Amino acid sequence: MSDLREPQYTGFATEQIHGDDAHHAEHGARVAPIHLSAGYIFDDVQQAGDRFAGTAEGYVYTRVGNPTNADLERRLARLEHGQNALFLGSGQAAISVAFLALLNCGDHILASNSIYEGTRGLIVANLARLGIEADFVEDTADIEQWRAKLRPNTRLLFGESISNPTNDILDIEAISNLAHGHGIPLVVDNTAATPYLLRPIDHGADIVVHSASKFLAGHGSALGGVVVDSGRFRWDAREGYFPQLTAPDPALLGESFVQRYQSRAFAIFARDVVAGRLGPTASPFNAFLIRQGIETLSLRMERHCENAQHVAGWLASQPAVVTVDFAGLPEHRDHHLAAKYLPRGFGSVFAFTLAGGAPAARAFIEATSIFTHMTHLGDVRSLIVHPASTSHCQRTAQEQAAGGILPGTIRLSVGIEDIADLIADLARGIAAVSALADQPLPTPPAAALVPSPA
Ligand SMILES: *Cc1c(COP(=O)(O)O)cnc(C)c1O
Repeated sequence: MSDLREPQYTGFATEQIHGDDAHHAEHGARVAPIHLSAGYIFDDVQQAGDRFAGTAEGYVYTRVGNPTNADLERRLARLEHGQNALFLGSGQAAISVAFLALLNCGDHILASNSIYEGTRGLIVANLARLGIEADFVEDTADIEQWRAKLRPNTRLLFGESISNPTNDILDIEAISNLAHGHGIPLVVDNTAATPYLLRPIDHGADIVVHSASKFLAGHGSALGGVVVDSGRFRWDAREGYFPQLTAPDPALLGESFVQRYQSRAFAIFARDVVAGRLGPTASPFNAFLIRQGIETLSLRMERHCENAQHVAGWLASQPAVVTVDFAGLPEHRDHHLAAKYLPRGFGSVFAFTLAGGAPAARAFIEATSIFTHMTHLGDVRSLIVHPASTSHCQRTAQEQAAGGILPGTIRLSVGIEDIADLIADLARGIAAVSALADQPLPTPPAAALVPSPA
């Protein structure tokens, strides 16, 4: 729809600002305006019919497409080296739409065990109610575990490029090869890495999803999500695997989505049939805000990574800290994968565990003041939270421990503030933990002193 010249640049920082920069003719505005319009005027009846039939380009109704959202979609498709993108109301909306566009009742999804709790809930509760089965791979780095859990009805593999908060690193090449050998796609949640640090499609992933609410936006003021399609996956390679894309569709007058749209089949099906019907539409205002964020992504990520590396090293040197789950530390179990996939930096969301358990974690969090106590990540502001009692509270202590969440575990999202101020803030946390250790143990209540009969 937009009249674009071939790009005259190759660098990420230039592309995040100029990539697919459609000039907006009206008034010569340099920044793409916010098109807050539910619908779009048709020039004539023929054009209206052609747009509804999908035989002419052009907007119809904002639930299926909007110029401001499209501007962000083109930018993100380009930054992720994909063919098409679909912007939605939140990261969860994007993941839901991607899964629902791929999976049918009776299908099976195989996912890494180290994934966002909201995505786990979507799989084990919501998708299960639709008859979609699931298994989780305990050790994400062990390709044999992925292979062993594949089933004849597995229709997608799923993982996060950098997991939160334990920083498991997805071996995208190995897992996408496994998926492709079984005729199924690999879907990667790239929220914690962003395309600046890692482009999963370059390593074999077929579909990338994001919570754009996090690093892409950066300012923490708007939710959004995106599904990026590589356009490379052959949906018709295995008979009957993705019938929603390959069987004749009455809405397409008996053609299939693959016949009509070829490499764009998944993207158009996800937009028109799944998102267009379920309705998790994003506001163009949020698209505008997130686009503003993306224009500074590389600068922010550089500072996030630099600060996180420093904070992780400092924490690892503290006697009160037993482990630091930051993939940028050489002792992290997936550091070799991180070194391969993340040459520009290791992100800034990770966990560390205090020897003193839950009371120490509480004292630490309540003593910090620059680190904001809240859930969310990828914000310019540094954030701190206690996963065991918040994001992971619906899981048993045993399940939490299997996922690397102990009572003394704290999650950080390191922001872009001055490093000296961040270290001073964390030092207040460590001091509070030491003060706790110096206190005498509270006197047990009298009843507890009476020996129990058992
Ligand atoms: C936050 C997050 C989500 C969910 O995104 P929302 O925008 O909050 O709906 C999904 N995946 C990961 C890795 C996230 O961090």
